[in-house]
Amino acid sequence: MKIHYKDLLHMENPLFENTLAYAQQLDQQDELREYREQFYIPTQKNGKPYCYLCGNSLGLQPKKVEELMLEELADWKKHGVEGHFEAKRAWLPYHEFFTKNIAQIMGAKESEVVVMNTLTTNLHLMMVSFYRPTDKRHKIVVEKGAFPSDKYAVDSQIRFHGYDPSTALIQLAPRAGEETLRTEDILQVIADQGDEIALIMIGGVNYYTGQYFDLEKITQKGHEVGAMVGFDLAHAAGNVAVQLHDWNVDFAVWCHYKYLNAGPGSIAGAFVHEQHLGKTDIPRFEGWWGNDKDTRFLMQDKFQPIPTAEAWQLSNAPVFSMTPLLASLQLHAEIGMKKLTNKSKLLTGFLEFLLLELKSERIRIITPTNHQDRGCQLSIQVKNSDKALFDAITAKGVIADWREPDVIRIAPVPMYNSFEDVYNFVSILKDCL
Ligand SMILES: *Cc1c(COP(=O)(O)O)cnc(C)c1O
Repeated sequence: MKIHYKDLLHMENPLFENTLAYAQQLDQQDELREYREQFYIPTQKNGKPYCYLCGNSLGLQPKKVEELMLEELADWKKHGVEGHFEAKRAWLPYHEFFTKNIAQIMGAKESEVVVMNTLTTNLHLMMVSFYRPTDKRHKIVVEKGAFPSDKYAVDSQIRFHGYDPSTALIQLAPRAGEETLRTEDILQVIADQGDEIALIMIGGVNYYTGQYFDLEKITQKGHEVGAMVGFDLAHAAGNVAVQLHDWNVDFAVWCHYKYLNAGPGSIAGAFVHEQHLGKTDIPRFEGWWGNDKDTRFLMQDKFQPIPTAEAWQLSNAPVFSMTPLLASLQLHAEIGMKKLTNKSKLLTGFLEFLLLELKSERIRIITPTNHQDRGCQLSIQVKNSDKALFDAITAKGVIADWREPDVIRIAPVPMYNSFEDVYNFVSILKDCL
């Protein structure tokens, strides 16, 4: 190989080679290669591992999860209710075990993040607090083609406040003939309708196109016009390096079962910016776990909020849906977002390079080509919505996903995917084309 992995990391447009031997050399030089061993890779009926490129939908299981889960079950067996204090990891403050690592991943202060509930629930809870429409200012800005759950959540919030989504929802659409949004166009819409916008709520990385929006600029412009700004980071958390505190984002929500490998339907997360903490004039749906820890068990009449994002918690910790996240976060903490995103840039760059080498008329990549504008996912649009292509690669051992009307999403995850995975996938795709 002519160019060393470390040099590739510093190149804006790395030069790759289209051979299996080259992919294997990159794997040998990859400082994260051993992390693959920390995960279970699903196996096909013939005993071979799948080519798993679907970590954007459900991350793989860290091997350590089972041990930690068994410890919780044993503690419940042994201690019953006393496990809240006596368990190896006491259940009473269980959510606190995640704060430090999550704050690091999300670029937040520890006081600003909390793990709780599930994603869509958290989105509603955040909108209860930060979507406060008036007749003059009640519009919400979303990206057209937002994840359906997000769309249902904002529509129903608008109706809940007595407004009509058909007039109150502004959907940012790409220019004719384009697939992704231009930042300048987003900022222009915000500037143009600024005094009617109550909330900007965008998916940080769009689930369909894989586009990573300029969250800092959007937040800044949103604040200039007097709007609140929140993000759904389901596809961003653990995938791209966000800086929620420094960017002054008002709130954010995310799940942990995609790039954070915490298992199906696992506990989700929320961020509330420091400037909104400890305030008494914010409307909020409240529950006992948001109450000040010193007085929580005095069962007093009046709610005393914890002066952190924990004030938004409702219930005591669902321990079994949180434990897998402990295993996964240990790995993330060891590596850090910097190394992950460095490898991600190369791995996805390699995928893009190989796809372009196919020179196929039947497919095209709709994800932005600039690596600053994407995470690890590439969305491949298939001509004439031909799902047969997806079915063919699936039959050959690739796990990816198909999104109507015409996209195959491929996510090489830097934590456990290899350059060889990427090479194998493109070989299979080539055969099927
Ligand atoms: C994955 C995802 C969801 C799923 O919501 P749940 O409440 O976890 O079922 C919602 N929104 C976006 C943007 C997602 O990517």
